[in-house]
Amino acid sequence: MPIYLDNNATTRVDPAVVAAMLPYFTEQFGNASSSHAFGATVAGGVKAARKSLQALLGTAFDHEIVFTSGGTEADNTALLSALATQEGRTEIVTTAVEHPAVLSLADHLEATRGIIVHRIGVDGRGRLDLDAYARALGPRTALASVMWANNETGTLFPVAELAAMAHAAGALFHTDAVQAVGKVPIDLKFTEIDILSLSGHKLHGPKGIGALYVRKGTPFRPLIWGGPQERRRRGGTENVPGIIGLGAAAALALEKLPEELTRVRALRDRLEEGIRQQAAPCLVLGDGDNRLPNTANIAFEHLEGEAMLHNLNKAGIAASLGSACASGSMEPSHVLRAMQVPASALRGAIRFSFSRDNTVDDVDRVLQVLPEITAKLRATVPA
Ligand SMILES: *Cc1c(COP(=O)(O)O)cnc(C)c1O
Repeated sequence: MPIYLDNNATTRVDPAVVAAMLPYFTEQFGNASSSHAFGATVAGGVKAARKSLQALLGTAFDHEIVFTSGGTEADNTALLSALATQEGRTEIVTTAVEHPAVLSLADHLEATRGIIVHRIGVDGRGRLDLDAYARALGPRTALASVMWANNETGTLFPVAELAAMAHAAGALFHTDAVQAVGKVPIDLKFTEIDILSLSGHKLHGPKGIGALYVRKGTPFRPLIWGGPQERRRRGGTENVPGIIGLGAAAALALEKLPEELTRVRALRDRLEEGIRQQAAPCLVLGDGDNRLPNTANIAFEHLEGEAMLHNLNKAGIAASLGSACASGSMEPSHVLRAMQVPASALRGAIRFSFSRDNTVDDVDRVLQVLPEITAKLRATVPA
């Protein structure tokens, strides 16, 4: 059985999620907007899915969830909505380590619309430069957008504090929580976060479905214009099976969160400890304990990540190079460059990302083959 340790790229759809979705491809095929019985049952299912997301996020009010086609659309909507609704504010404050769903849109807005983008840097552990963040916020800031957890290193950002700082400057605050939802507790009631993005396929739900949380009263402009779906916040007939799947995935994520924080974390820690002992020299990247419980990003000194992945893959182990989006290109990841990872380790970073599907046997299998791979590859590089 191949071992899958690339859960930050995507997760296996939970069989219970598939089971929940199936009727919505067959008997429950109605359009949620139709006023007849076919529509009503489907609308009921969609409503229940919304409730289960609300429970996972700890939101206070109904109607704060807008379904989207995924995390990327959610992020795009958040940035463009804020710029459209924040009169006279033409700047965005974000970080140098966001997902391309935020960063490439920010680049595009800067190049084509004269939007000023402040990309706040991080230190060697991936922690945001809070002074630079505070200095960048001002009367021209439309939105501050900072991810809850970094997809490459798992480093967690102090989003509640960052949201309060953005509000003090009169700006909106958005967080890309795609990697955080289901892996760490989230209770939006106790934060000032205005807009949050999440994605189904990162939490054992289907691909092509995601959601935005938009706090009640937050000014909003749709990205997709069309019919009156989603209270006119996102046009287009709902992806009903996807929404049902996301709802089921959210309910499971809430139930399994304690396991994520204990058993999954212990697997990750066992791997890191084993690698430190058997495959050094290496660096565990990210902010110590202030990380997602499932993510290990380990930079192996003087090794090529590509070669390691190739050898791991041959041994039936799937991991990834820094980020799924950066792999394929030979450029070292923008996140590790922002962290100023030493040149000797920059190309040798491998991300192992766990989920509740993994077992101790998976970890022990990796620890059985990885030291041989690193020893073999190190023997071929000149000292
Ligand atoms: C995967 C991911 C996205 C994109 O979500 P999709 O649903 O794949 O579009 C955005 N942000 C982060 C942090 C991610 O990990």
